[in-house]
Amino acid sequence: MLFEKLKERFPGIRQKEPLKNHCTFRVGGPADLFYELTNIEEIPELIAFTEENSIPYRIIGRGTNVLFTDKGFRGLIIKNLSNEYRVDGEEISANSGALLSQIIRLSIDNNLSGLEPLYGLPGTIGGAVWGNAGIPGTEIKQFVKKVVLFNASDGVREMNADEISFQYRKTSLQDAQNIIMHVVLRLQKGHQKASKELMKKIDEIRRGKQPIGYTAGSFFKNPSPEKPAGWLIDQAGLKGTRIGDAEISAKHANFFMNTGHATALQIFELAELAKTKVKEKFSIDLEMEVKIIGDL
Ligand SMILES: Cc1cc2nc3c(=O)[nH]c(=O)nc-3n(C[C@H](O)[C@H](O)[C@H](O)COP(=O)(O)OP(=O)(O)OC[C@H]3O[C@@H](n4cnc5c(N)ncnc54)[C@H](O)[C@@H]3O)c2cc1C
Repeated sequence: MLFEKLKERFPGIRQKEPLKNHCTFRVGGPADLFYELTNIEEIPELIAFTEENSIPYRIIGRGTNVLFTDKGFRGLIIKNLSNEYRVDGEEISANSGALLSQIIRLSIDNNLSGLEPLYGLPGTIGGAVWGNAGIPGTEIKQFVKKVVLFNASDGVREMNADEISFQYRKTSLQDAQNIIMHVVLRLQKGHQKASKELMKKIDEIRRGKQPIGYTAGSFFKNPSPEKPAGWLIDQAGLKGTRIGDAEISAKHANFFMNTGHATALQIFELAELAKTKVKEKFSIDLEMEVKIIGDL
């Protein structure tokens, strides 16, 4: 009944969608409701409907930093495919579902510089701003001018970068159930040739360090630059450790891999093992960077 009502207004809505098809870990059970959002302006009405009907909801980008649980999600998962963007002088305005890689390409095509170090970082600009994605020395916060947000209590509103607290892989946008609808980035004039050379270097570094496969990138936050999570897990003797098809990469110990048919639980258990061993050896508490969605 509820589904029919929702489908009437949002015909693309689906039921029992396997979430493993929507994340780079390739694990996760079904979402009761699933919607591929191509028009970001639908957000206020969609969320009003879920709020009125007490349906839990969560927006995702490309699922490159999430671990969907095996039980899946009892509510609505909104996959953000709203990806229009444009250049305006030294600024780029984008809908939050635009890929960071598309925006970097656009910036270089327009002789704008700044984002090159983030080349190779997968996912959407909305996901990147929400989690202040970055690499050592460069974070997306350096380029954010403003965002347009939605949440159920305040509706749609604009927020300037100086009103947002950006920390290491964390922002104040995470405090409420905020949905980032649009992002405006401010870049600077650059030189295409130099930018391309830098991106080539960044690409080589990434390829040298990171394993390829079903993964969500760094599983834990780095407790400090001197003792990154990968080093700590390696020193705890866990490189290459497996539970079922879940594996701590032998190439980079902060990369947890689904080597075939891993379950979310196996990945989670491997993460718990890493936490315990690192705590025992170094008295350091590892904190997850990857977001768990659903009940374990
Ligand atoms: C191979 C690989 C390498 C990676 N390397 C890096 C790296 O170098 N640095 C780094 O920082 N990260 C890295 N990551 C992690 C990931 O790329 C980033 O966190 C990325 O910004 C997530 O974007 P996404 O669109 O996939 O978000 P998702 O994974 O879909 O979502 C992540 C979180 O953001 C929230 N979210 C997404 N979109 C919105 C929105 N519009 N409004 C509100 N909340 C939203 C989701 O609810 C979820 O909690 C890597 C991942 C992989 C797979």
